[in-house]
Amino acid sequence: MSLTVVGSVAFDALETPFGKRDKILGGAATHFSLSSSFYTNVNAVGVVGSDFGDEEWAVFKRHTINTDDIEIVENGKTFFWRGRYDYDMNTAHTLDTQLNVFETFNPKLSENSKNARLLFLANILPMLQKQVREQCENAEFVAMDTMNFWISSMKDAVIETVKVVDCVIINDAEARQLADVPNVITAAKKILEMGPKAVVIKRGEYGAALFTEKSYFAIPAYPLESVFDPTGAGDTFAGGFMGYLASQEKIDEDAMRRAMIFGSVMASFNVEKFGTERVDALTHDEINQRFADFKRFTHFEEIPFERATSAG
Ligand code: AMP
Repeated sequence: MSLTVVGSVAFDALETPFGKRDKILGGAATHFSLSSSFYTNVNAVGVVGSDFGDEEWAVFKRHTINTDDIEIVENGKTFFWRGRYDYDMNTAHTLDTQLNVFETFNPKLSENSKNARLLFLANILPMLQKQVREQCENAEFVAMDTMNFWISSMKDAVIETVKVVDCVIINDAEARQLADVPNVITAAKKILEMGPKAVVIKRGEYGAALFTEKSYFAIPAYPLESVFDPTGAGDTFAGGFMGYLASQEKIDEDAMRRAMIFGSVMASFNVEKFGTERVDALTHDEINQRFADFKRFTHFEEIPFERATSAG
């Protein structure tokens, strides 16, 4: 069981209504690999500059994430993103993006990364996602993310990548934009028609939904009262989802439904502190406890339907 992720490794500057940080570890591949490392062996593929220090590498090492394919560019600077959230924590406001070494990122996959059973293409240039997918020809299950920037500037290239993956994991606004329809259910159906067998739509604090050709499975988000910093929640969700699938022998609809819950559980931890702080310090016991709580409070069987219907 193994999983490869390709994406950004970054320094983030973050501001939320509850505090700020000037320079902390971030990036889609970072959040994804930390989250998935609780379930499987992970290979991270990315690029950093020589300013990426021992403290940052230590986070990857603590979770035995394989960093052999994170290239270090001497005298280069690591990708930098500055974002702000207001009380609506579902919307990130990008204040600054400095691509630095990420601008010429050309993912180089070792044989080990190429041979992973599962592959996640985090949000990078769609042509690069497709190239990486083609290098991992034996991958059993491939998922991708993307973002509004690529959909508005090169939608055709995004669709070419969508055609060659098994699963698309995006947020509701991106789904509408990609399918060019206002209704999110119709959008999911249209994305399925492009080729993948599953589409996962993330809806921030409102949960997430899984669409396949035959079914629709929606779950709420874990009901948290203390959302501190939502940065990386989407990638942490994807990490829990893909990591859990990597730990399963059979990747079918049932496994994907359970993976949705593990994705939500991991994302719920991520938002409790800044950046990677919470997931870095997480334990398996905490995950199992929250998974059990999640199952308990979503028990539809316990709703007394007969009382509702007898009133009429
Ligand atoms: P998420 O909140 O899950 O959408 O992802 C947040 C992470 O994405 C942050 O840690 C950023 O470093 C990273 N990020 C922001 N903008 C970009 C971009 N244009 N390309 C790749 N990664 C990005």
